[in-house]
Amino acid sequence: MNITSVVEEVAKLNPTIVSVVGAGVSKASGMPTFRGEDGLWNNYRAEELATPHAFSRDPKLVWAWYRARMRILLESEPNPAHYSLTELEEENIALGIITQNVDGLHELAGSKNIVEIHGRIRYARCVSCNYIERWDDEKKAQKGIELPYCPECETNLLRPDVVWFGEPLDSQRWQKATEWTTQSNVMLVIGTSGVVAPVSTLPIYAKQNNSIIIEFNIEATPISSYCDYSIFGPCEETLPDFTKKLLNKIG
Ligand SMILES: [Zn+2]
Repeated sequence: MNITSVVEEVAKLNPTIVSVVGAGVSKASGMPTFRGEDGLWNNYRAEELATPHAFSRDPKLVWAWYRARMRILLESEPNPAHYSLTELEEENIALGIITQNVDGLHELAGSKNIVEIHGRIRYARCVSCNYIERWDDEKKAQKGIELPYCPECETNLLRPDVVWFGEPLDSQRWQKATEWTTQSNVMLVIGTSGVVAPVSTLPIYAKQNNSIIIEFNIEATPISSYCDYSIFGPCEETLPDFTKKLLNKIG
């Protein structure tokens, strides 16, 4: 179905929107491929570094990897897909964004209501106390500097504020995600095949809630058969088109 026809259907619903976002949304944000950096990290897989075990065994290695990722992230910016979601929020027809991305680009695009299911790579927190600080800073992301210690308790390390492999999700974040899902009547699934648990359960809740589900992906995905409408193409093009037409219709 084309975007204009989908907008016609959505406009009839007096829509309240929640968005479930994945890596496809950040693709157009000029993030060079991570493997580019000196080839240094080619021999490591995320599953070997983004774990509590890796951090306790070799925190310097894990921090060197996160600093390298941060240097790349500092070169990236939000793209039109991020800004479209901000616009829907500002027009008060979207409750919020549930994102699997840790890159913080929704926040940079001005969105306020964001649940970052897998945490935030731009922040570091103390492994022991409640101290937390921003980390998206060229100085902090430099190569070859020492391990960061907590300025509050001094003896404990800071760690990236992300959910590592093998760690549970934050229950408050998850509760917010399910609340938005049941309070909305339209779910946008954007740049994700939606198969990774537990995010994969949100479209199921949405269906039980009689919401309609609209997918924005490059091509058909495992979630397509579950969606009421699928809009295929680069989401940095399709989502702004959808948003503009919807706001023209109901704005
Ligand atoms: Zn501390």
